Amino acid sequence: MAKKTKKITPAMKQYHHFKEKYADAILFFRMGDFYETFYEDAKTCSRVLGLALTSRDKNTDPIPLAGLPYHAVDGYLKKMLQAGYKVAVCEQVEDPKQAKGVVKRDVVRVVTPGTLTDDMLLEAREDNFLCSVFLGPKSAAVSWVDISTGHFFVQELEDDKAILDEVMRLGPKECLLPEMRGELFEMEGKKLEQQIERLTGATVTRRPGWYFDSHMAKDKLLKHFEMKTLEGFGIDDGFVGVNAAGAVLEYLEETQKTALTHISSLRKVSRSNFLQIDQTSLRSLEILRTIRSESKKGTLLDSVDQTLTGMGSRMMRAWICMPLCDVGAIEMRQDAVAEFAENESACEDIRGQLKEVADLERIVARISTFRTSPKDLLSLGWTLRRVPALREVLAGCEADMAGRLAERCDSMDELADLLEAAIDPDCPPHTRDGGVIRDGFSEELDHLRSVSSDGKTWLAEFQQRQVERTGLANLKVGYNRVFGYYIELPRSMAEKAPADFVRKQTLKNAERYVTDELKKYEDEVLGARDKALELEQRLFEKLREETAKYISRLQELADCIATVDCLAAFGHLARSRSYVRPAMLGDKTLEISEGKHPVLAESLGSEFVPNDVNLGGEDGDLSVITGPNMAGKSTYIRQVALLVLLAQTGSFIPAKEAKIGVVDRIFTRVGASDELMRGQSTFMVEMTETANIINNATDRSLVILDEVGRGTSTYDGLSLAWAITEHIANEIKCRTLFATHYHELTELAELLVNVKNCNVAVREWQDEIVFLHKILPGGTDKSYGIHVAKLAGLPKSVVRRSREILLDLENTFAKEAAGPELTRHKTSDDQQMLFVERNKGVLDRLSDLDVNNLTPIEAINLLNQIKDEI
Ligand code: ADP
Repeated sequence: MAKKTKKITPAMKQYHHFKEKYADAILFFRMGDFYETFYEDAKTCSRVLGLALTSRDKNTDPIPLAGLPYHAVDGYLKKMLQAGYKVAVCEQVEDPKQAKGVVKRDVVRVVTPGTLTDDMLLEAREDNFLCSVFLGPKSAAVSWVDISTGHFFVQELEDDKAILDEVMRLGPKECLLPEMRGELFEMEGKKLEQQIERLTGATVTRRPGWYFDSHMAKDKLLKHFEMKTLEGFGIDDGFVGVNAAGAVLEYLEETQKTALTHISSLRKVSRSNFLQIDQTSLRSLEILRTIRSESKKGTLLDSVDQTLTGMGSRMMRAWICMPLCDVGAIEMRQDAVAEFAENESACEDIRGQLKEVADLERIVARISTFRTSPKDLLSLGWTLRRVPALREVLAGCEADMAGRLAERCDSMDELADLLEAAIDPDCPPHTRDGGVIRDGFSEELDHLRSVSSDGKTWLAEFQQRQVERTGLANLKVGYNRVFGYYIELPRSMAEKAPADFVRKQTLKNAERYVTDELKKYEDEVLGARDKALELEQRLFEKLREETAKYISRLQELADCIATVDCLAAFGHLARSRSYVRPAMLGDKTLEISEGKHPVLAESLGSEFVPNDVNLGGEDGDLSVITGPNMAGKSTYIRQVALLVLLAQTGSFIPAKEAKIGVVDRIFTRVGASDELMRGQSTFMVEMTETANIINNATDRSLVILDEVGRGTSTYDGLSLAWAITEHIANEIKCRTLFATHYHELTELAELLVNVKNCNVAVREWQDEIVFLHKILPGGTDKSYGIHVAKLAGLPKSVVRRSREILLDLENTFAKEAAGPELTRHKTSDDQQMLFVERNKGVLDRLSDLDVNNLTPIEAINLLNQIKDEI
């Protein structure tokens, strides 16, 4: 580049060197009290951060420049990250005063969305995962780390599809993918990269293939954990998870450039230990985000998460996304929840302590990465002081888990004592201005401090002496940062200054002087102040080092507190909402009486109608639920899935009584309208999801189907729905709820023992219908489409006209039904089939109709067309 070869300053040479090295990041280049950005980076920062865009070397070779003051860097970093950029922070790594030639600089860290540790940049109640995906020839693997807490995991996956399930569940902020041939990463016609970005909003970062190389990766892991083998983590040779985990470490090294001792173990996750929820179900059951607004409000997690600490809240998210499958493990949690639900005083005592607890995990991460603030150590000390009280309440509980947690309540008294003695309770957020170490902690520091603070008395006394000596009453002693201490005389008195006053500075109305005595004093005081500051920083670093020795104990305590928080939160939830303890079983039972939808029941209050479910027993595994639109079918089937999921986390559930045989996977195939927006055909989405269910469900799975077969013509759809139901009932035999508008499917209950019918109660009253939202046994044969259309606000004239048409149709159909060749078929279903046959075209269009999205004009036009056709 011409620009570079022109006369270029040594500092700009450094700049180009680092910019080349960190090409995919914006470079914040420290120059004195500013971080400067140049060229394209400057334009980007000016746009994103609203900084003034100026130029350097204006006359000779202007370079675009935008700078920001160093002390405000956190706020600017946050904005850059939110806008999706990475930032490489290049610092001056030697004291400019000592530098020979250009100041040495180095990139000390690269701030990326997935590698944050600063509280200001993090969400307190959410994990901040960086994940990496490795796709091997036979299997795939995902590894994820939150460096703000030190949690590091790896998981091998049996198929590529599971990658998206996992990534969606994790909701990472950043995802590492290898730079590889694109086609390897295509799934269902879409690039994995795009799918991840779309589903999670994560920043995708590509790195060369060698980041994921198995030998390099293994070496990296062994070196980091200072181990000779990974067997201690349950990782054998050939485990492809190593490739993904190694890439994570490589990337952390690239960006963090500091020790990461708090990442002290790698946990291998096995999906089979947990209730698996694929990404479709995670979305459609609105567990972490709502479908429509993508918000957290209105989700299952939001509704049941009553934890009080950031650590607890992050653990709660993991519990909800990864419910347990082992009856014993679930019951362990339930016992503790039961005790907290009943023993209000113990539960509230614990919660009272938790309110005062700091985020240990994140403090530990900052201790490990040398980014500790004085406030971190202060609140760490306070938190440790809460631990004995927590231990006492837990030790007084009967539940096994509470007892075990009590034993893990390590209060580290010696560390708490040290921190309490060392850190000033009114300390500032940074160490740079001092005031961090408490008086009385270090004799040397106390002495240096007294030299500078005793100065006030000395100065007053010095001033007094000079006034007396010179007889000049207006003489004053003062201090300013540039000139130091001085004696000031009003201009009018300047000529009376004694000979030993050496002129230092001339102002408009005054003259300033120093004397030898004042100069000597200044050296002493300022020296003491600098020394005190330096000493404080050294003492603080020693404290950090001392605290760092406790990292693994602190992490253990953090995990214990998070668990206590989750259990107490479930106890509180159970008590405040009168939830009950479900009996957990190892068979296929699913009996819930008077169950409620955990989210909707809260917003509707007493208006919510509870419902029963009984599957997996004598009546069969599969229930076909019919009823008009808006009656409550979807709510009901989702409710059952949510209650099972919640029960398997160890939580109590909103019901009168429940017996639940643990489920290995939850599958859902519900409403397609949201997928439509993403440009896939409704029917294709429907069938892909259904295929996934048919291929992967086991007899222990729970399947929720809503309106399968809707996206194609009536006959196609009905036949498919029929065959799918038959297959599930006969072959898979898993607990299944199938909500459908195909009344024909109710016949299956007569043909197959494993199928039963339910319907949602509706009361007809003077041509109106009232939804009772009550699920009753038996099928239904009315669809009430016109009633629903009316409720939806279709004009009265259209509704009236459609009633006329319906009546006409019914009459025609009645005449036909009475025809000689059909008289022997008496069942209403058969009659219906005939009716369907005759009016297939019209019915297809009616059934494909999305009444909610129909304008009145469209409705009228449609009715006119229909009228012409029949
Ligand atoms: P469907 O799937 O039959 O079309 P939905 O399940 O979407 O019906 O329910 C429609 C509306 O009815 C919901 O938005 C909700 O407000 C209400 N509803 C559903 N179930 C209940 C219930 N058990 N108690 C009270 N209201 C309910």
